[in-house]
Amino acid sequence: MAAATSWVERAETLNPEVRPFIDGDYQQPRSDVTFVDASPRDGTTVAEVPNCDAADVDAAVAAARQAFDDGRWRDRSPRSRKRALLRFADAIEAHRDELALLESVDVGKPIADALRTDVPGCANTIRWYAEAVDKIYDEVAPTGPDALALVRREPIGVVGTVVPWNYPLILAAWKIGPALAAGNTCVLKPAEQSPLSALLLGGLAAEAGLPDGVLNVVPGDGPSAGEPLGRHPLVDAIAFTGSTAVGRRFLMYAAESNLKEVALELGGKSPQVVFADCPDPEAAANAIAWGIFYNAGQTCHAGSRLVVEASIEDRLLAGIAETAAALQPGDPLDPQTTMGAIVSAEQHERVSGYLDLGQREATVALGGHTAQPVAGGYYVEPTVFAGVDNRMRIARDEIFGPVLTVHRFDGSPDRAIALGNDTDYGLAAAVWTSDVTRAHRVARELRAGTVWVNTFEVSDLATPFGGYKASGFGGRDRSLHAFDHLTQLKTTWIGLGR
Ligand code: NAD
Repeated sequence: MAAATSWVERAETLNPEVRPFIDGDYQQPRSDVTFVDASPRDGTTVAEVPNCDAADVDAAVAAARQAFDDGRWRDRSPRSRKRALLRFADAIEAHRDELALLESVDVGKPIADALRTDVPGCANTIRWYAEAVDKIYDEVAPTGPDALALVRREPIGVVGTVVPWNYPLILAAWKIGPALAAGNTCVLKPAEQSPLSALLLGGLAAEAGLPDGVLNVVPGDGPSAGEPLGRHPLVDAIAFTGSTAVGRRFLMYAAESNLKEVALELGGKSPQVVFADCPDPEAAANAIAWGIFYNAGQTCHAGSRLVVEASIEDRLLAGIAETAAALQPGDPLDPQTTMGAIVSAEQHERVSGYLDLGQREATVALGGHTAQPVAGGYYVEPTVFAGVDNRMRIARDEIFGPVLTVHRFDGSPDRAIALGNDTDYGLAAAVWTSDVTRAHRVARELRAGTVWVNTFEVSDLATPFGGYKASGFGGRDRSLHAFDHLTQLKTTWIGLGR
């Protein structure tokens, strides 16, 4: 890996593509308004990006509509789509350094993480769905001898994909991977904090030979570009990842326009439930620390609430502090850095507000302050608040920063389950215990889309990801189940005459 100075030098000469990618090419934006895309690393401007509006969205949707309707993509054999998508994945990997640098500069992610996780995660996702699509069979229904009833999956059409800034490449790939593999066409709207890697994906798709109009990328903020996409009458489905508040809006847009399908992946406040018989407290502490501090806590399923049996609390907190010592905020462009920046001044201020609240209402067990490893940037120390009552705002709100709240319980599984479930969200949870019966029981009772037992964060593209309650509905990302909301089931009933 290149040295820190080299990444800083490269960042200084960055000249990223900012124009919307529509119908196979970068186009002049219809909107003449721009927004400043600032780097949270040091607050400097990375680029002035077009704030695309309804006219740009119209052009992108028209291109996607045409590309869907004329069959240039959906009528290809699955194997042919697979080949094109495999080339797309190869192109992403071939541009690993460039994409990682864009990602690191745009959102303040450690360059090492972007190189090791985000770019490969994006390429692997595209590849996984490419490989899957020519191995899926449709169904023949068990009718009587006078009929043949085929149950086929058809692509749903034009898919609007709207994503947040915390994992721009990976989350875009979780949407466009299965959508494109299934034969849909896409309009991708990245978050205004992180448009650059998505815009490069557009060019790479063209380089890989995806037909014009199959993947379009429109940068812009929520009201200017997101809302027109959500309300567009020619969009058949929205695949959204982001906050619960904006997820609600997409439901409204769909209801007030063409009743397009909406799949929502939203926020979280995931509990880590630890019993005193946790098999390896040191390993648990390490996983719990990584589970909240990785990506500076800006992870939807971050294990942000520690529900811990009183007798093991001190030991666990000591272990978390030990791991956190190696997870201090640093320059995202230094390959040694393990924790980067908070994405924006606004988000930094929000997280700082929760630090103040926690200092007033709870006991600071670790950190509790902002940090400044790079002048002008936005950073927060790994923070642990102990003695937290689950009714406090720090326990209820999704802070989306490196902040863990600690909730003690007396050892009763029912109390632990009640505390774990006492949240509006239900994205993920974990239970740590040596008692296999209790592990199964608690895992069954926790209302979350993923429950880990004696581990955290490990996952595979083969497993679905999504939430219960206010963490979303309408579909799952990852696994073959992602095709469920990106395809329609069609029954073709053939009378065989009698
Ligand atoms: P956000 O909801 O503010 O923004 C997400 C996307 O929606 C962005 O592209 C944004 O431009 C767009 N948007 C914002 N306002 C809009 C509007 N009025 N109309 C249409 N589009 C609009 O979320 P964020 O702050 O970017 O991301 C953080 C949130 O994302 C957290 O809540 C986090 O938990 C969630 N998230 C969930 C998952 C998951 O898989 N469940 C994964 C990552 C992040």
